[in-house]
Amino acid sequence: MSDNRASKIVILGSTGSIGRQALEVVDKHPQEFEVIGISGFDEATLLNQQIERYGPQLVTVGDERAYQQLKITAPNCQIAYGPEGLCQLASLAEADIILVALSGAVGILPTLAAIDAGKRIALANKETLVAAGDLVMARVREQGVVMIPVDSEHSAIFQCLAGEEKYLHKVWLTASGGPFREFSQVELEKVSVEMALKHPNWSMGPKITVDSATLMNKGLEVIEAHHLFKVEYDLIEVLVQRESVIHSMVELKDGSFLAHLGVADMRIPIQYALTYPQRMESPAFSLDFKSLQAIHFANPDIEKFPALQLAYQAGKLGGSMPAVLNAANEVAVNAFLARKTSFTAIALLVEEVMKEHANIKAPSLEDILQADAWARIKCEEKILKMGTLPERKTVF
Ligand code: MG
Repeated sequence: MSDNRASKIVILGSTGSIGRQALEVVDKHPQEFEVIGISGFDEATLLNQQIERYGPQLVTVGDERAYQQLKITAPNCQIAYGPEGLCQLASLAEADIILVALSGAVGILPTLAAIDAGKRIALANKETLVAAGDLVMARVREQGVVMIPVDSEHSAIFQCLAGEEKYLHKVWLTASGGPFREFSQVELEKVSVEMALKHPNWSMGPKITVDSATLMNKGLEVIEAHHLFKVEYDLIEVLVQRESVIHSMVELKDGSFLAHLGVADMRIPIQYALTYPQRMESPAFSLDFKSLQAIHFANPDIEKFPALQLAYQAGKLGGSMPAVLNAANEVAVNAFLARKTSFTAIALLVEEVMKEHANIKAPSLEDILQADAWARIKCEEKILKMGTLPERKTVF
């Protein structure tokens, strides 16, 4: 980097898709990066391999059994546990960069801990900004830390806006449209977990892959963009671009558009967030325009994919509503992955939970965490109620 020593990085969520790809970036540039902290939930075997390879000083796990196991198998490394352990990792004294690659609102407290510790943050955890964007961004400004988005769209916008922020008119968030772009409503109702987990363009973890299929991911990204770039919701457009070659665009006041293009490979935005403002050779392939031939554009279908509209609504309402949208969605997606509910029920559940929420304007962190917890319980109740219906039918 700018000086001669390696950047010391902490990866919150090193066993997930973003975390593993970040380690590939580290492998590509072993002189530039030193991994000093990692975390996972219950993947003790993988964490052990990562400990042997990267020799971190601190490792946090979310599962009690994995914690006990690692204390025995990795005696030379400090092992921490749970949300407190994540905050400890996020504020590790020697760390230069904290890559927050956790999935879900569990990222809120560690992200705030990293900001308060004055760390540079590479943020791959969009749920944190969705649920607590006002608080998190206010804290970023107060502490004067640099937060670089890892989400490919926001990385694209961040790069397009370099030196152009004051001329920004509109943000154009691109979307692949997901694997069910062409499905009818009837076909959507029959979508299985296996079908939803096959994204046509991007290789990602299960939660975000399902979110991409419902378009909730794009909705969460709209809210994320609102907070990161201080853009009003009416000035954020979602554009389906099925080849996932344009990673997003900005429209400037004079009618100029700036776009970021490249192959659909998360290692590019991950690496950029770690090397910013510098660039290095990437492990990803180059984009071959000659074989690409065409790029197609379309409007998102908000009738078939109501989740996108729900996110706009929650974002415009603000307050605690985005946290509720996010929490209900996390529960509904998990229920779908556990085969407890259908694909089309995800957005319905989120909508119902939102309707019952008494929105809190200008919420405190405590209010947000409470709204999140409330929405999770509400959504689980609704799933249980839905689940009992077919059983009753068979009894009679
Ligand atoms: Mg994205």
